[in-house]
Amino acid sequence: MAGLPRRVRPFILAGRLLAAAALLVCALAVAQTQTVDQLVLHADQIKYTHNDEFLAVLKQLDAQGDRLSSSQRDWLAYFHAWQLGYSGDYEKALDAFHTLLDRTPDQTIRARSRVSLIYDQVNAAHLEDAYTTLSELLGSLGEIQDHNTHFLVLATAAFLYGNAGQYDLAQNYVGQMLAYDNSDRSVCLALTTEADNLSASGKLRSTDSLIQRGIDACERADDLLYANNIRTDLALAQINEGHAADALKMLKDRDAETLALRSATAISEFRSALARAYFATGDYENADRAAQSAVAYANTQTNARSVVSAYSILYQIAKKHGDDKSALANLEKFAAADKGYLTDVSARALAYQMVHQRVLDNQRQLQAANDANKVLSLQQQVDAQRARTRLLYALLLLCGLLIVAGWAYRTKRSQLKFQKLARVDSLTGICNRQHFFDSAQDALRYCARNSRPASLLALDLDHFKSVNDMHGHAAGDAALQAAVAACQSRLRSIDVFGRLGGEEFAILLPDCPLAMATQRAEEMRQAIATSSGDSGANVLVTASFGVAGTDACGHNLTTLLAHADNALYAAKRAGRNRVETHHIDANAAAT
Ligand code: GH3
Ligand code: MG
Ligand code: MG
Repeated sequence: MAGLPRRVRPFILAGRLLAAAALLVCALAVAQTQTVDQLVLHADQIKYTHNDEFLAVLKQLDAQGDRLSSSQRDWLAYFHAWQLGYSGDYEKALDAFHTLLDRTPDQTIRARSRVSLIYDQVNAAHLEDAYTTLSELLGSLGEIQDHNTHFLVLATAAFLYGNAGQYDLAQNYVGQMLAYDNSDRSVCLALTTEADNLSASGKLRSTDSLIQRGIDACERADDLLYANNIRTDLALAQINEGHAADALKMLKDRDAETLALRSATAISEFRSALARAYFATGDYENADRAAQSAVAYANTQTNARSVVSAYSILYQIAKKHGDDKSALANLEKFAAADKGYLTDVSARALAYQMVHQRVLDNQRQLQAANDANKVLSLQQQVDAQRARTRLLYALLLLCGLLIVAGWAYRTKRSQLKFQKLARVDSLTGICNRQHFFDSAQDALRYCARNSRPASLLALDLDHFKSVNDMHGHAAGDAALQAAVAACQSRLRSIDVFGRLGGEEFAILLPDCPLAMATQRAEEMRQAIATSSGDSGANVLVTASFGVAGTDACGHNLTTLLAHADNALYAAKRAGRNRVETHHIDANAAAT
């Protein structure tokens, strides 16, 4: 028989688990002052132990009708659904629980409904649905506030995963049970589940400390059924380890007690272990009796592990006695029970695997959607970053352009400033000598091209040396500026006015015949003579003018200048503060 899982707790034990949990439920105790709430609490506590009384309380609650609060109505609906499952009408129970789950928002009622729903789904052979409901239930674990309901959910998970052969997962929930509640009743429930799971997976050792801890907790909680359940697991471990005599002694000591507890399933498992102990110690007669008893107590649970084990013992005893006929009959029964048992186990394992796979698939899809969202948000971040970078580049470019434009503007301005400085006389603001020559040449060339007359005035301030000497250099400067301003006020925009040096000036008058030039020179002379310097010394200066025209000299600046100079000297000689005009005769005379 080695290699086979030795036993499994049939689902009928689920009822026992729920009964134990129901006693734990105290969530409703807070409302004990209200009669209807007291009835609800009472109904919840007695539904397993005093089912007839429970049905009577249900009738009382039904009679309350509209006087029930919505929460009380939901509890009533829960009890009705529970009763359907308890009386074996699983399909109707499933419908009733689904209807309730669709409408109640109460997390405690939802969790309790789902726990009951799971056992009804198992009993109705909807194993996949059961593991799906369990998965949903565990998903809502964080929202279940009620302490005992929370614990019940953990216990259900540990029990159900153990039955699907998922022992590690089951152990995880046992660990959570122990961490969540350390009362004797809870520790008893957790360690019984742990012992069963370790035993079913062949990992339980008779020396494991959880065995004595579990038995002690169960006895303190006055739960002899669970204490003996652990002892049954212990006995099987002892037999496997070769200590069948120890196992036999312990089981015999507890046989009467187990029988008195009247749980058919528990008795069947206990007797099956007893049969193995007798067989291992060579007491075939008692082994046979115990095995027959195990089969009898299993009742309708024909595929229970205790039945498989019992038939295997019966077969081996018959073989030892040489009773071939009986051996064959028991072998056939063993084979049938074992096949049924294995089918049950693999159906549960398969259901679990399918649900587990579906949950993983959902998680993967969720993960994929999350990943896609992450990629999208990263993409958005990248886009935003790009936009910021583009803006930064644009700003940098703009700054660069502004700097270049500013630099170009400043360069151009200083260039213009230097150009102007290079052309302008700093004291008077009119053309300097060089610029006068250039501009006068251009104007003359223009007049020559267009056969227009032009005249040139040469002027020199009179006795200016003595002005400086008498009034100082600054007053002389001011007188110079005043004389220039006096002339300028009488010039056209096309006239070219230049300072040739010291207090000597020249003015080219394009498109101006000699006579008119002489007249304008006369006006300028008078203007200078009547203007005064800005030095405050009220210095009066005069100037002598010499005028020459293109009619006599041609459009040649050097000639014009020489002739105008001649006329100027003539004016000086003639007594100063006057205008002399160069005439052809004068030219000849000068030559
Ligand atoms: P004349 O009537 O013969 O021209 O007598 P003048 O004293 O003006 O004789 P001259 O032309 O020889 O003297 C020019 C004087 O002008 C010499 C100098 O002291 C003065 N002068 C030349 N340039 C400037 C100037 O920029 N500022 C001042 N204040 N005086 C100047
Ligand atoms: Mg002079
Ligand atoms: Mg002079």
